[in-house]
Amino acid sequence: MKLTILGSGGAMTTPRPFCQCSICTKARKLGEPYKRNNSSLFINDINTLIDCGEDIADSLNRRDIKKIDRLLITHWHPDHTFGLRPLLEAHYNFRTHQADKTIDLYIPKKVFKTLRQKLPTIDYWLNYQKTAKLHLIEHGDIIKINNISIEVVGYNGKNSDIYAYLIHNSNKRALYAPCDTIDFKYYENIKNLDLLINECGMFSKHKTEITFDNLMKRMKENTPKKLILTHIEEVELRTFGENIFSKMKNNYPDINFDFAFDGLKITL
Ligand SMILES: [Zn+2]
Ligand SMILES: [Zn+2]
Repeated sequence: MKLTILGSGGAMTTPRPFCQCSICTKARKLGEPYKRNNSSLFINDINTLIDCGEDIADSLNRRDIKKIDRLLITHWHPDHTFGLRPLLEAHYNFRTHQADKTIDLYIPKKVFKTLRQKLPTIDYWLNYQKTAKLHLIEHGDIIKINNISIEVVGYNGKNSDIYAYLIHNSNKRALYAPCDTIDFKYYENIKNLDLLINECGMFSKHKTEITFDNLMKRMKENTPKKLILTHIEEVELRTFGENIFSKMKNNYPDINFDFAFDGLKITL
C-alpha cells in the first residue's frame, strides 16, 4: 500500500500570507519541505484522496497526480473541504457544460448536513455540474476498492462530527486522523495499527486542541508501530521554532514518530 501526504500544514498554511517570520520567509524562499499546504492524504494504489483544503489544486499539481477517482471527507472545516471547488470544477467542461468526469464523494451523513450549510454551492457541483456523486456514509461502514478497504471511524462512534479513516489491505492497517483529535475517544478501540497519521497537537497548553504531551500519553497506552504527525500549524513553529521537532523527539525516545512534510511517501 502506498500513501502520500499531499499537505502537512495546519488550518493556516505555511507560508502564511503577509507573515515575515523566519519560518514563513524560509518556506517562501526554499519551498518544500518548509512550505506546508492544508492537510490531505492520497492513497496511490486506488487514486483516492482524503480531504481537500483551499490549496488542493497546488497540492495535486506539485505531486503530478494524474487522476482522482474518489474523495473522502473527515469533517466540514474549510481547511479540509473548501478545495471542493477547484477539485470538482477541474472535471467540468465549460464549453460543453458537461462533466468530463464524475468522482465518488464520500461524506459522513452528519458532516454533509453541516457542510451543506457552510458551503451551499456543493449542491451545484452535485446536481448541476455532476462532477461528483455523493455517497453518505456512517461510522462502521466499509468502502471496498480492489484489495483495499476503508473503514469509517467516527471520533465518538455514530453521530460524530469528525471522522478518521482506517485504510487496510490483507496485512497492513493505517489510520488517518488529521485534525481535532482531542475528542477522538474511539481511538481506544483501534489496536495494532501499522501506521497512524495523526495531527501533531499543540506544543503548549490549549483549551480546545490536544497537546503534544497528551497525544504522547495516548500513544503510550495504545502504540502504533509507526506514527506520523501532520497538520503542523505555522503559529506553532513561529512560536517554538523549528528545533521543536528534534526537542520532542528527544523528549519521547521510546515512541517511533516522525513529523510529516508535503510529499512524504509511505509504503506499507
Ligand atoms: Zn509566519
Ligand atoms: Zn484541520
